[in-house]
Amino acid sequence: TRLNNSFQFLDVGREDPKKKPLKVRKHQFVEIYEPFSEEEVKEQTHRCLECGNPYCEWKCPVHNFIPNWLKLISEGNIFEAAELSHQTNSLPEVCGRVCPQDRLCEGACTLNDGFGAVTIGNAEKYITDTAFAMGWKPDMSNVVWTDKKVAIIGAGPAGIGCADILVRNGVKPVVFDRYPEIGGLLTFGIPEFKLEKSVLVRRREIFTEMGVEFRLNTEVGKDITMEELLRDYDAVFMGMGTYKYMKGGFPGEDLPGVFDALPFLVANVNRNLGFEKDPADFISVEGKRVVVLGGGDTAMDCNRTSIRQQAASVTCAYRRDEANMPGSKREVANAKQEGVKFKFNRQPVEIVGDGKVEGVKVVTTQLGAPDENGRRRPEVVPGSEEIIPADTVLVAFGFQTSPAPWFEQNGINTNSWGGVEAPEHQEFKFQTSNPKVFAGGDMVRGSDLVVTAIWEGREAAQGILDYLEV
Ligand code: FAD
Ligand code: SF4
Repeated sequence: TRLNNSFQFLDVGREDPKKKPLKVRKHQFVEIYEPFSEEEVKEQTHRCLECGNPYCEWKCPVHNFIPNWLKLISEGNIFEAAELSHQTNSLPEVCGRVCPQDRLCEGACTLNDGFGAVTIGNAEKYITDTAFAMGWKPDMSNVVWTDKKVAIIGAGPAGIGCADILVRNGVKPVVFDRYPEIGGLLTFGIPEFKLEKSVLVRRREIFTEMGVEFRLNTEVGKDITMEELLRDYDAVFMGMGTYKYMKGGFPGEDLPGVFDALPFLVANVNRNLGFEKDPADFISVEGKRVVVLGGGDTAMDCNRTSIRQQAASVTCAYRRDEANMPGSKREVANAKQEGVKFKFNRQPVEIVGDGKVEGVKVVTTQLGAPDENGRRRPEVVPGSEEIIPADTVLVAFGFQTSPAPWFEQNGINTNSWGGVEAPEHQEFKFQTSNPKVFAGGDMVRGSDLVVTAIWEGREAAQGILDYLEV
């Protein structure tokens, strides 16, 4: 039978779940992938070769037990798969949706060499979504509660990862976030076409039932002080992200019509979720010629949000070539399908306009010698200047760390680029220079990925448990 055929990968090719039709994708803020059917997921997960030394597991930052849960799905054992997948990941259904699998687990799959990698991400999403729909909940029956409580600043993936491990070890996490919903950039950053927000609402309910307390709309440093947290809790974990926008440093960046990526994306989410405080915060690109600068996940999200807002045209200018784009290949392909035009090897040198944006002046670049990270450095082609016409320019050059003014007075050291110093390899993992304070996620490693933030939050929780001798 099919399920006994270990050469399934020869008969059955890789198939991603179906996508919604383009006419829906170009208008609506809904996830573009349909869920796998039971038959599809069994067929796809059965392609796994069950490699003795699974590279996918090593490449996955949280080291998920991938072949084991793929097998459980192919056998129809969803609850066991859910238990196993939650042993290593606090938000598996989120990672399944937003990880750049092509350069993580699926990129390392043995079948990626010519046969098509196993659809690991979509299988991971399927497990949790299906288990929750069938009434599964994390099993907390063996938890022995201690009298310890830990304050967590930030309900993003790092804070959630930390809370998950603490609560499962009987330590009460109280999570403070300045935003009205949990998720950090998962909610107020990543758009709905990659991750629908109901996923985070359900997660808030599940974590609350598990014993995590969320204090939303509460900013540490404004509504409550760090000193109060240090006084009232046994330890503090900081997972506050990075929120300073990088600038291009060229003329015209202050012209009306130029916006940073995140305020554009957040205003869009706020409107869709009903969190909008002032309609003037919304940045509409309807009918506009939009130019997006950058080539990462944030740039792709701006491109595709602009398409859905009915921009007249969307052009993405990136200074390297397509192969060297930092974001997920899947999302670049999706952006192209939805109508985004790419101009690769274009370095912006000026935003031009008289009182408002009229275009972006770019020069063409070619790749030169590799830099210290092994990435080939772009060089300008002489005489290649051109102007891309634009009414709106969205700048997505990434984020820098943004240390809070209260770090210093609480003995929390930062490094030369503003990252919080919280080394992994020391007696208590991810402890900062204040022994009672731990940190992880983007604010420690610089802006990176959801899955690495989850991993650091979970590891830091181990550090906290050791520190508290739980
Ligand atoms: P965050 O998610 O930033 O969460 C930090 C939280 O701390 C926020 O909720 C914030 O409100 C809160 N906070 C900060 N200061 C305070 C304070 N003083 N008091 C109370 N609360 C505070 N990664 C992927 O893997 N895949 C993707 O597809 C992807 N797409 C992205 C798209 C965009 C537009 C952006 C901006 C990022 C994307 N990323 C993606 C990166 C990913 O979202 C981040 O790496 C990840 O969210 C970092 O998690 P974190 O917990 O460290 O911080
Ligand atoms: Fe792959 Fe990310 Fe899931 Fe790990 S967490 S298995 S990298 S999708």
